[in-house]
Amino acid sequence: MTDRVADIRARLELVRERIRAAGGDDTVEVLAVTKVHAVDLARDAVAAGLTLLGENYAAELADKADRLATEGAGTAEWHMIGPIQRNKVKLLAGRVAVYQTVDRVELAETIARRHPGAVVFCQVNTTGEAAKSGVAPHDTARLVERCGELGLTVDGLMTLGPTSAEIDPRPAFAELRALVDRHGLARCSMGMSRDLDAAVAEGSTMVRVGTDLFGPRPDR
Ligand SMILES: *Cc1c(COP(=O)(O)O)cnc(C)c1O
Repeated sequence: MTDRVADIRARLELVRERIRAAGGDDTVEVLAVTKVHAVDLARDAVAAGLTLLGENYAAELADKADRLATEGAGTAEWHMIGPIQRNKVKLLAGRVAVYQTVDRVELAETIARRHPGAVVFCQVNTTGEAAKSGVAPHDTARLVERCGELGLTVDGLMTLGPTSAEIDPRPAFAELRALVDRHGLARCSMGMSRDLDAAVAEGSTMVRVGTDLFGPRPDR
């Protein structure tokens, strides 16, 4: 085992301890956010036992997914967690296991055409911040329904906590969890390095962690 794989394992154990301290159990999934890092880091993450990998940019996801697949490096599952332009869906189809950021009907239509039956999460804007993507909470039902009509598999919802560390993230997370339950969905993707404790306390089933597993991201 290389030093970095051992280091990632140790950091993953700390994340797991935080999850347990917040009342979560080992069923809480840890999505390793490898965005901006080199493909070697994604490879080391898989070697450390992280099988769910998240990326924000379509081209970067495609590149890393192809390289790991060619090497036969483990069985990584790629999740798209950044904003999706419709003209990038072609690149993602066949590589992405879960599209976590479906926030509008037009995007759902494109995914349904290019990747029939794809597994998706709808992204909900639970903070009301204008700069954040996501469907408004009261429009979630319509989007979830439409995805179903299009033959997509809506498996969960996803949200981002408040940008400001001054704001208590728990109400936003509680709102997402309530929507997940109302729609009878299985998965609730919320919580990042900074706020995963609050997210798990409010019922997150998947935290998306970059910095606390891999350290700061390199400059682009
Ligand atoms: C970058 C990113 C993360 C991970 O953030 P960290 O603070 O590095 O843990 C999680 N979710 C989304 C949507 C992101 O863009």
